[in-house]
Amino acid sequence: MDCIFCKIVAGEIPSDILYRDEEVVAFRDINPQAPVHVQVIPKEHIAYLSDVTEEQSGLLGRMAAVANRLAKSEGIAEKGYRIVVNCGEQGGQLVPHLHMHLLGGRQLSGQLG
Ligand code: 5GP
Ligand code: ZN
Repeated sequence: MDCIFCKIVAGEIPSDILYRDEEVVAFRDINPQAPVHVQVIPKEHIAYLSDVTEEQSGLLGRMAAVANRLAKSEGIAEKGYRIVVNCGEQGGQLVPHLHMHLLGGRQLSGQLG
C-alpha cells in the first residue's frame, strides 16, 4: 500500500521512532511545528478518525496514553501540551493514516483553526 506512515511502521522509510508496541508506533515529525512534535499512530492502516469503529475505539485511548507517556519522557508534561487529530481535507489532514500530533515545548497559540 502506498502509505507513508505504513512505510514508516514497516521500516521502509527511516524515521526517529520513539515508541513501538503491538498496536501503536510513535516517531518525530519530519517538519516539527514545536520543539516537541511527535506522531502517534496505529500500526494498522486506518485512514481517518471517522473510520474508527466502536470496536476499535479503545485504540484511541491507547494512542492518547502513549502520547501522555511521551509527553513525560520528552519533558513537556508539566508545562502542558496539545494533542491534535486532523480529519479529512477541511480538517487539514494531509497524510491519510490516522495520527495524533503531540505538540509542546513552547506556548502554543490559542487559535485552533
Ligand atoms: P496532517 O496534516 O496529515 O495532520 O499531518 C501530517 C504530518 O506528517 C505533518 O506534520 C508532516 O510533517 C508529517 N510527515 C509527513 N511525511 C512524513 C515523513 O515521511 N516522516 C515523518 N516523520 N513525518 C512526516
Ligand atoms: Zn497507512
